[in-house]
Amino acid sequence: MSGVLETMLHSEKNAVCCKCKKSVSEAELVKRYFICPECHAYDRIPPRARIEYLTDKDSFNELFCADIDADPISFPGYAEKKAASRKKSGETEAVLCGTARIGGYETCIFVMNSEFMMASMGTVVGDRIASLFEYAIKRKLPVIGYAASGGARMQEGVLSLMQMVKTSIAAKKHSDAGLLFIVCLTDPTMGGVTASFATLGDIIIAEPNALIGFAGRRVIEQNTGGKLPESFQSAEFQLEHGVIDGIVERKDQRDYLTDVLSMHAEKWGVKA
Ligand SMILES: [Zn+2]
Repeated sequence: MSGVLETMLHSEKNAVCCKCKKSVSEAELVKRYFICPECHAYDRIPPRARIEYLTDKDSFNELFCADIDADPISFPGYAEKKAASRKKSGETEAVLCGTARIGGYETCIFVMNSEFMMASMGTVVGDRIASLFEYAIKRKLPVIGYAASGGARMQEGVLSLMQMVKTSIAAKKHSDAGLLFIVCLTDPTMGGVTASFATLGDIIIAEPNALIGFAGRRVIEQNTGGKLPESFQSAEFQLEHGVIDGIVERKDQRDYLTDVLSMHAEKWGVKA
């Protein structure tokens, strides 16, 4: 381990579990892939830590990280909200993109950050993801994507919805070039992200118990007047209904991705 994980492993700070709200040391969380030792909930992983778990040591090279602070419709309160997210996360936006090796295979990778305005998709997020697909097409590389999102970023108005089209076209062009796109849906993946690139993977996996859907449960129940099953929109529900191909635990994800990349070696532009 190096970088973020190494630092957290030696940290004396505590974090609070997102589900049971018990205090857990950062070092303990790192050892357990950010899974709560008390209630076994999958806690949120900072994107750089996620990348370290998944990729070969020191192989990540960040791309499309230009610091663009977009506020295209001057939405009231947006600048302040985004500034707070930037300060809290230490990141400039809700997605981190780059190249890295996984099990020796060269890949393009993006990881969305639910701690940054619930990883909502605005113009910068859309630009970064579309640019990564374009980069992958030029270099004939597979794309590994970790999705998370509350949906479109409402503070950017209709421009946020246009990111659905832009990212979907980029993913389609990557597919038409015969290249592999594996996406992992993490908790929560909702709205315009689910309805665009996040469900366009050749292989779609999810983390256990992740919330995956388009509109939320309450909105659907109010509109249909019906009661939805308890498991509605869980990863397990989506697997049962054919939306995703599999559920992979965090400790197994790196090996799973390596296996899939090795199976597609040479054929779909995957190279060691
Ligand atoms: Zn817990």
